[in-house]
Amino acid sequence: MNATSKESQKMVTKTFAWPVFDESDVNAVTDVARSGAWGNPDCSGLVEKFEKEFAAFCGSKYAVTCANGSVSLRLALIAAGVRPGDEVIVPPYTFIATASVVIECNCVPVFVDIDPNTYNIDPDRIAEAITPRTKAIIPVHFAGLSCDMDRIMAIAEKHNLTVIEDAAHAHGGIYKGKRLGTIGHAGSFSFQSSKNLNSGEGGIVVTNDEKLYDRINSLRNVGRVKGGMWYEHHFLGCNYRITQFQAALLSSQLKRLEAQTTTRDGNGRYLNQLLQDVKGVTPLLLPDDADVHTFHLYMFRYDESHFKGMPKRDFVARLIEEGVPASAGYPYPLYKQTVFQEKNFMCYAIPEDVDYTKVFCPVAERACATEAVWILQHAMLGTREDMEAFARAIGKVQREVLQ
Ligand SMILES: *Cc1c(COP(=O)(O)O)cnc(C)c1O
Repeated sequence: MNATSKESQKMVTKTFAWPVFDESDVNAVTDVARSGAWGNPDCSGLVEKFEKEFAAFCGSKYAVTCANGSVSLRLALIAAGVRPGDEVIVPPYTFIATASVVIECNCVPVFVDIDPNTYNIDPDRIAEAITPRTKAIIPVHFAGLSCDMDRIMAIAEKHNLTVIEDAAHAHGGIYKGKRLGTIGHAGSFSFQSSKNLNSGEGGIVVTNDEKLYDRINSLRNVGRVKGGMWYEHHFLGCNYRITQFQAALLSSQLKRLEAQTTTRDGNGRYLNQLLQDVKGVTPLLLPDDADVHTFHLYMFRYDESHFKGMPKRDFVARLIEEGVPASAGYPYPLYKQTVFQEKNFMCYAIPEDVDYTKVFCPVAERACATEAVWILQHAMLGTREDMEAFARAIGKVQREVLQ
């Protein structure tokens, strides 16, 4: 079969652009270039302007930008007052930063398994994992689906824990009427290029707590304080500031976020319907309290027994051949990464008896190995017809293996 005939048989022929931008975004950046005011301190006020816009968008009092969505998590943890050896509860099914920043704060990540129906951290397991050393929880609104925040906040209140939402997938998501990132004590977002709002790199923390805000603001700006002199440093911070270019681009891109989020949410719900009767393909549960799902990833659970035992990775490779922007996701849960297995970290505060080779979270293991299939967020910006084409591609692969 030659390339053209294979191409013409693809179920999905459209390509999905990301990032989405036009002249208004280009002008925002070139205006900064022409001004010659590129950096920080916030010479043109564009950083503060964006921070105010993002805080207003989320409905939070404060927002502080920083270099990326890993630093934002770490600064929020430090500002929350964690001490060496404190335990921080994290899910194992997430990007490494959720757990690695805990070690960078000299604290111990404690992995708590995910709920098989949502792939978000399981509140029942959180309660079981709490010890006298537990200090914080970092729930991840994975793929943009809200965690069970009412239960997480109730557990946190009972045990006096800080909750830092990792909302790197969840810009614009809503749980029970509230924007994700604003329900816990602080919420962290990433603006890395794959994320639903991006400026190439970047991050932000939102909070309603003035003390947290002041401390994070200082930490990202080499420990400077409001009203202090330029060479006056109160805390052990670093330079984690963003540039005027990033701030200008983010302000421009933010104007699109609401409409893009509505599109993804509508498409995700539609694709859920289209797939509901396909055997061996189970969309994740979308609870009623998830008012807006941002579908940074559209996920479903694959069951190879309905595909004649075709391994997940082969199935995903076939979907990609059919033109679906799909991924098999993480190869294994985070604790299986060499860095944790071998404890390859320069951190002397992690107790000797912490041994990640003994950790086993069966739901996350299964998700990584055989179940979880992702369709990437930019594809969810397509049309209803595109969603139908994704469903047809899945059907085609299934018919092929079963015939
Ligand atoms: C992307 C991501 C981060 C980190 O963001 P960076 O900006 O890449 O540092 C943290 N948590 C999750 C869940 C992410 O997906």
